[in-house]
Amino acid sequence: QLSNITKAWNTGTRQVVGLRNINLDIERGEFVTIMGPSGSGKSTLLHIIGLLDSPSDGVYRIEGRDVMGLRDVELSRIRNRHFGFVFQKFHLLPELTAMENVMLPMGYAGVSLTQRKLRAQELLERMGLSHRLHARPTTLSGGEQQRVAIARSLANDPGFLLADEPTGNLPSDQGAEIMEILHQLNQEGMTIVMVTHDETLGAQGSRTVKLKDGGIEQIVEREPWTNLN
Ligand code: ATP
Ligand code: MG
Repeated sequence: QLSNITKAWNTGTRQVVGLRNINLDIERGEFVTIMGPSGSGKSTLLHIIGLLDSPSDGVYRIEGRDVMGLRDVELSRIRNRHFGFVFQKFHLLPELTAMENVMLPMGYAGVSLTQRKLRAQELLERMGLSHRLHARPTTLSGGEQQRVAIARSLANDPGFLLADEPTGNLPSDQGAEIMEILHQLNQEGMTIVMVTHDETLGAQGSRTVKLKDGGIEQIVEREPWTNLN
């Protein structure tokens, strides 16, 4: 629940406004897409939702709890428990294998080595990567790397998946595979918030938030997406 969220930065002489007066409630099970021109505030909004950044003003509640003004330890606890992140540029660690990349967040969460291995393997199998468990990121295609990144984002079993242009660096067939996975996860109950420039992909959300100059220009509601194939 975002109420009157504003984000501004002081860059020496002038103030840059990233978001102005955002009011947005996201319900469990939704697939929200965020669209808008470059610089309209999409990433800033996603970062605030995921507690990677804090608003300058307004109120943000997660499951009714006001998360503004919480201490950093508490914020990272909430972030790690609720949110998985996927980015345009995958952000995998190049010196680690696919398995090791997926195991990493579970290590921070204190999961035992045996459990980490089991879960990483299971997640990568779900992503269709059982034959590439020990591959390093540079030997994988972009789509495969993004599937490793999705597996990693699911490692600690989040309720929300936040994706910033997850198909932006991929050819359209590999992007379509990623969308297929996101829809599958959403149908299993995952709440998804995805930033995209692509009108066709944006229209696959159950709701689209269109940003302009840091404000909400329009919200489009739709019937949930169904796979017609
Ligand atoms: P793109 O489609 O290019 O990724 P975006 O919609 O994600 O754009 P944001 O990255 O959210 O846009 O940026 C919104 C505005 O806030 C831009 O004007 C940007 O320059 C500004 N901005 C973002 N981060 C900062 C920062 N750390 N300091 C100052 N200004 C910032
Ligand atoms: Mg952005």
